[in-house]
Amino acid sequence: MQNPESYEAQLETLKKAYAQKLPYRIEQITLLYNALKTGQRDEGAYEALHRLLHALLGSGTTFGYGPISQSAHTLEQLIGALEHREAQPDEAFFSRCDEALEALKHAATLLPTPITLPEATPAPKRSNGQKRLLYLAEDDTDLAKKLSGQLGYYDYEVRLFSSVRALMAAIQTAAPSVVITESELPDGSAAHALKQLPDAARPGVLLFIARRGDLKARLGAVRAGSAGYFIKPLSPARLIDRLEEITAAKSETPPRILVVDDSKTLGQLYALILRRFGMDAAATDNPERVLEAIEEHQPEMVLLDMYMSGFSGDEIAKVIRQHEHHANLPILFLSAESDLHKQLSALASGADDFLLKPIEPAHLALAVRSRVFRSRQLRALMVRDSLTGLYNHTETKKQLDLLLERAKRAQQPLSFAMIDIDRFKRVNDTYGHPVGDRVIKSLSRLLQRRLRKGDVVGRYGGEEFAVILPDTDAAQAKKLLDTLRESFSELLHQTERENFNCTFSVGIAHHPAITHPAKLIEAADGALYAAKEAGRNRVVIHAESSP
Ligand code: GH3
Ligand code: MG
Ligand code: MG
Repeated sequence: MQNPESYEAQLETLKKAYAQKLPYRIEQITLLYNALKTGQRDEGAYEALHRLLHALLGSGTTFGYGPISQSAHTLEQLIGALEHREAQPDEAFFSRCDEALEALKHAATLLPTPITLPEATPAPKRSNGQKRLLYLAEDDTDLAKKLSGQLGYYDYEVRLFSSVRALMAAIQTAAPSVVITESELPDGSAAHALKQLPDAARPGVLLFIARRGDLKARLGAVRAGSAGYFIKPLSPARLIDRLEEITAAKSETPPRILVVDDSKTLGQLYALILRRFGMDAAATDNPERVLEAIEEHQPEMVLLDMYMSGFSGDEIAKVIRQHEHHANLPILFLSAESDLHKQLSALASGADDFLLKPIEPAHLALAVRSRVFRSRQLRALMVRDSLTGLYNHTETKKQLDLLLERAKRAQQPLSFAMIDIDRFKRVNDTYGHPVGDRVIKSLSRLLQRRLRKGDVVGRYGGEEFAVILPDTDAAQAKKLLDTLRESFSELLHQTERENFNCTFSVGIAHHPAITHPAKLIEAADGALYAAKEAGRNRVVIHAESSP
């Protein structure tokens, strides 16, 4: 987070820059308009006029000049109607344009209203002892009691409801962090009611409990913004695990946003607003460099201006989408375009949603943040393993491709480790499958907690894990994994009968010794096999295993 002084100062600078350019912009508009009026209808001038008006319409309100947006809109609509007209329009037409232009000139002389943001409200942080508010709507009172009892252990203040009406009324009175609801309550569909909530009133986490698991029911839940869907009979432990995973994912990292807008001032203002709301935002005014900017900033969402000189937003969106790794990167268009057809064509090019310019700063921040959280939730459903919350097999491989490419470009080492729990079959056979599951989970938690932020942990198979360590050579990787191996071997797994320990073995392969992802996996697998052969509970580096 920025400190408030520097925020105010930056805001002032941007406002000044905008105000300084205004007279020049208005002058250009006037010149172009006068040319048009005197019968010069050349394409370039017409385009330029349209673009200038569009830009003012899109930016005015955001900088505190509401009337500029309004009069630029009026003039743009009038001029737009000219586009396909053959004959020179009449006097009456131009006098309406004159009027709009005068209004625009006048609007530019008005003092801007101050840009005020409501107090920045980052994802609710808990101070010690403060409980998170959780609404549980479930008409099966036995289940409701059982669940709320368990949730109580996890620092939630649970309030129970048994109807959609009561739940919605409570949400409007005090916004909860979490809502868990039966999808069909006696008085109607919770999914339907929750979908109607404005972004600002949406709960941070929404989970559904349902009797049906068909696609239609699930879709209804997804559209309402749900992060999980649990079919009855329900395992409270599973639900709580999922809830903990999601809340951890949400609070961990601020949303990373890249703003692409060819107006430098506007793009920077957007970025500033987003930062003010606890997001990590960068802006570029050069659409040609969008791929580099994505590479540099690693955004979770791109906020893309629809019209930029020389490019249209949907072209840029297509360029981003062509890049395999960015196929799922959410793109949000910012557009002053109210034409539905143009909006649809942009959506077809791979954008995910629209925000209409001009936009109020607070609305921008809320809209972006809620979309990032929703897309995180959706992504978590797709790429995470359900038992451990780690990346699944497919996603782990994707991550390896991505990080290996990056390591090559940066000429940095990268280590890939394959971890496999020793004699795990015996654990299952002796203590049962649920105990085995708990061992898998404990290893996944250990890995997650002890690795660095840029490292990737995936559940590669049943009791196999993959760890990707960027900027780490084989010796460093071995040292790290040996430490983890020792910690894990000391963990005591408890059962009703007795407590026991488990160990794991590791195979490591590394770049630049190996440069192809599939070969890297194969080599790590080979090293893992060698570690097992050599007696288990050890770490083997690939080179050592095949001298
Ligand atoms: P080694 O030391 O050679 O790795 O012996 P191991 O017994 O661990 O090896 P093996 O690969 O033969 O057995 C792995 C077992 O892990 C078999 C499978 O039933 C069990 N397993 C796989 N996935 C899960 C899971 O999600 N939960 C539980 N509880 N067990 C699992
Ligand atoms: Mg094993
Ligand atoms: Mg195995």
